[in-house]
Amino acid sequence: MTVSDPVTAAESAQQAAAEPCVLLKLGEIVLKGRNRHQFQRMLEQNIRAAVKDTGIRADLTRREGVVILRVPLQPGAGQPGASQYGAEHAAAVEQVLQRVADVPGIVRVCRAWRVAKTPEATVEAAIDLTRGITGPFAVRPRRRDKRFPLTSSEIAVLVGREIQKAHGLRVDLGRPETEVFIEVDAREVFVFTSGLPGQGGLPVGMSGRAVALMSGGIDSPVAAYRMMRRGLRCTFIHFSGMPLTGPESVYKAYALTRGLDRFQGGSRLFVVPFGKTQQALASSGADRLQVVAQRRLMLKTAEALARRMRASALITGDSLGQVSSQTLQNITALDDAVGLPIMRPLIGWDKTEIMAEARRIRTLSISELPDQDCCTLLTPKRVETRARIDDLRKIETRLDADEIADQLAASAQEYRPE
Ligand code: ATP
Ligand code: MG
Repeated sequence: MTVSDPVTAAESAQQAAAEPCVLLKLGEIVLKGRNRHQFQRMLEQNIRAAVKDTGIRADLTRREGVVILRVPLQPGAGQPGASQYGAEHAAAVEQVLQRVADVPGIVRVCRAWRVAKTPEATVEAAIDLTRGITGPFAVRPRRRDKRFPLTSSEIAVLVGREIQKAHGLRVDLGRPETEVFIEVDAREVFVFTSGLPGQGGLPVGMSGRAVALMSGGIDSPVAAYRMMRRGLRCTFIHFSGMPLTGPESVYKAYALTRGLDRFQGGSRLFVVPFGKTQQALASSGADRLQVVAQRRLMLKTAEALARRMRASALITGDSLGQVSSQTLQNITALDDAVGLPIMRPLIGWDKTEIMAEARRIRTLSISELPDQDCCTLLTPKRVETRARIDDLRKIETRLDADEIADQLAASAQEYRPE
């Protein structure tokens, strides 16, 4: 790539005093062809909102396939000159980095230095970034601006030698433990290491909006998270057994919503007291169909909420065969209850896989708190594993289930965890 910007090395040296910043590598987003700009806009909007949570001001700039976040110095902070970015600035940059690591659509978050376009500044930044590492390393240079005084291989040799001298580390180009990337740009040089993995996936909002059915259990928060990562913004709905049970499951749903909020921001939780409705189903003689009938009514209520929210899908944590309500035949009967598609990202996951993911996204410990799940209320001795749709529809006609679902959705209590 040739650069038309006529910046001399002397000018750029002035423009870029060595500055720690955050460099974000975008994933799939760069492959999206014509939609790419929309993806980029949405991701940047989400990054800005996430950074705003920290209360730290950060400036976002976009470069080929990466986003740079710079934390400007507050007036009066530090002295002008190379050492003006002190420990406080470094801590603010680190806080921004940790925060954006939760934003879907980013594959890696890297600690980076933005330095003047000189070999000396580049070497200094590389030495700083490799402080504390022990294994072999490799330098990976790339010159976007060919007017840099050194070629790519000369950069690699120089920086590699200086890191070896400073820290006594070994070079291994084939299987390094740490890679030091050097990108020479028109105005500056970025030096960074591989950093932390991001969430990957697509920016939240890219695929639209969905209503996620969230129990206090392990599976549903993981399911919602997986769909957020595919670009769906989630609104949560929880059914409590109240007034027949205590409010514990509501606290859990609230805590889970709050925990998941760091991946999307602006989350809303709707809580439906479902106990009376469950009782009405039982009185209407649902018997062995009680569990599946309840789940259908939950789905109908979620669908009514989805219409209000302009959401176009529902999300559940179903996993094939995990419990008796999740046989293929029962899942078919559940799909029949609503017109919207039901997304079941965990359908092919084992419980151990789901638990590992729940641990990673830090919802597991909340899900494992004790509560009385409304589904265990009024559970018949034997649960039907092959529910017939006609039988379910008959029960629903007797009760006027669609009307109940509309009322439940309209009267749900809304919470907005900060
Ligand atoms: P989970 O761990 O998510 O509770 P589960 O293994 O207990 O799932 P079920 O109880 O059959 O399985 O529930 C399957 C799915 O139905 C849940 O993942 C969730 O999406 C939805 N669901 C069940 N109970 C509730 C509830 N009380 N409120 C909202 N959604 C629920
Ligand atoms: Mg459950």
